[in-house]
Amino acid sequence: MNDQEKFTILVAEDDDATRTFLADNLTADGYELLVADCARHALRLMETKFPDLVVLDLGLPDQDGLDVVRSVRASDGIASRLDPSVPMIVVTGRSGELDRLRGFDQGVDDYLVKPFSYPELRARVAALLRRSNHRRSEGRIRVGPLEIDPPSRDVTLRGRKMALSQKEYALLRALSTEPTRVFTKEELLRDVWGFRSLGSTRTLDSHACRLRQKLSVEGDHLVVNVWGVGYRLVDGPVAA
Ligand code: CA
Repeated sequence: MNDQEKFTILVAEDDDATRTFLADNLTADGYELLVADCARHALRLMETKFPDLVVLDLGLPDQDGLDVVRSVRASDGIASRLDPSVPMIVVTGRSGELDRLRGFDQGVDDYLVKPFSYPELRARVAALLRRSNHRRSEGRIRVGPLEIDPPSRDVTLRGRKMALSQKEYALLRALSTEPTRVFTKEELLRDVWGFRSLGSTRTLDSHACRLRQKLSVEGDHLVVNVWGVGYRLVDGPVAA
């Protein structure tokens, strides 16, 4: 990603004045903005719009901000649409050392106490984005002609962008962790549908079938059905 592409920042803050102030200033500084006034809306935006960074208030009306941090960091990035590695900066009135440590324990990347200086927030946002952008460009997964970018969930085949459903993506992402290994159906049901939901092997087979069709439009045979056992991504050794 070069400097011309805009980063998207989610501001989750229930105080109207602070939220508007942050949104106006970050927009003026060239960022795309998403705003939420409660935890539920913030999580929903993270699942659907994949912001590059989150500025989070801790005192939200429906849930504590640290619970939001916990949900995000605990997500596996496969079955859930939350990106567990999204950078998060907390902006809060809680100034105690213990509050700060609790924040870092939960996986907060940075912590600013209100009242805060906007230039300082902006500098910290820029520094975090630089670090995560670096990590992100290294995080692309290549399997033969296929490229997967986990933060954006973009999948390209020979440079052409593929339109995959959420479950098809999750299935591909799970298989891509070890491209030549056969994953049993039980493993895939657990990884993609989660422990608690009872996905059936029939559901798995129909998603796998659609994924295989979509990825074979150019004659590739990427998703291999190993009869009676499960699936793997490719048959032979994988080109880098
Ligand atoms: Ca608040």
